[in-house]
Amino acid sequence: MRLPLDFRRLACLTGLLASMAAIFIADTMTDYAVAASALYLVVILAAARLLDIRAIAPLTAGCIALTVLSFHLTPFGEYRVGVINTCINIVMLVVTAYLVARTERARSALQEAQARLTLISRVTSLGELSASLAHEVNQPLAAIATSGHACLRWLDQDPPNLDKARQAAQRILDDARRAGSIVDRIRSLTRGERPDRHAFDLNAAILEIVALSRDKLSRHAITPLFGLGDGLPPALADRVQIQQVLMNLMLNAIEALQGQPLPNRQMHLDSSLEGGMLVFALADNGGGFPGGEDPDRLFEPFHTTKQRGMGLGLAISKTIIEANGGRIRAETNPAGGATFRFTLPVAEEEAR
Ligand code: ADP
Repeated sequence: MRLPLDFRRLACLTGLLASMAAIFIADTMTDYAVAASALYLVVILAAARLLDIRAIAPLTAGCIALTVLSFHLTPFGEYRVGVINTCINIVMLVVTAYLVARTERARSALQEAQARLTLISRVTSLGELSASLAHEVNQPLAAIATSGHACLRWLDQDPPNLDKARQAAQRILDDARRAGSIVDRIRSLTRGERPDRHAFDLNAAILEIVALSRDKLSRHAITPLFGLGDGLPPALADRVQIQQVLMNLMLNAIEALQGQPLPNRQMHLDSSLEGGMLVFALADNGGGFPGGEDPDRLFEPFHTTKQRGMGLGLAISKTIIEANGGRIRAETNPAGGATFRFTLPVAEEEAR
């Protein structure tokens, strides 16, 4: 496929040389000294676009030579004015060629950098995929292990408490199903598929996640307080993905609250309708963000202040919320602690 490209270049070069010849003739036959040679600038600009950057210097030299030759051959005008015009033309040609060459070099450096970035982001997204899979699936796996132990304890009792054991086994099944859905969703996210968006009750989804975390909440003596809006319209989003985000935010808040003295661990979960969007907010009175930390940085992948943290939970949450048409942000509470807030589109809004 080299031939057509070379042929195209050859055609461009021939066209430019023909233009230079035409300009030379016009320049020599008329006394519009500056005006005619100004057209040489167009030739240089076109050469930068159509040919290689290396063609600029020889073409500029050719244009200068033609300008000087034309000055010698021009029968019109005063000699002194002619010299000044020729010098002005030469300076214009050199400056233009220099600027064009610089711009072209910067453009190709930018293109190279963009190509490198694309490659890097492909490689990191592969790494991120495996790391995020491990992170997300670890949560239901840990819950399965806890319920498994509980189930064994109920069965080991004398007489065995079959009701409780059955409940624990049911929780294991629920968590296993959740783990499966998470793997599916992450896979579809990385394949660039759109989230599976359906209308659902946001408050019910929130309460489900709180129920799934109740063991953890009671172990850390945290009683969640609710301010869930009444009669909210359904959300239009991928329910499983949104529950992943809710779970992430809950676990982060629980971890943040571990530094608080026991009777003073507060967690508020609020939902409302603001400006046509559903809003979820989770506030805690934990340690908050380290002093001066820009809350937006928390959403960058691998940003973590925890010794065993991965710094992926919030980055994934942001990707999920934005893929579902919402926004997520973090704020410092005036009284201490952090609030994470995200928005989601309303089902009726989208249908209109
Ligand atoms: P990880 O939990 O693995 O560190 P995340 O992306 O979930 O990853 O969180 C990134 C960082 O955001 C945490 O390391 C922590 O510094 C901060 N953070 C998240 N949630 C809270 C919170 N509720 N209170 C204070 N800091 C938080």
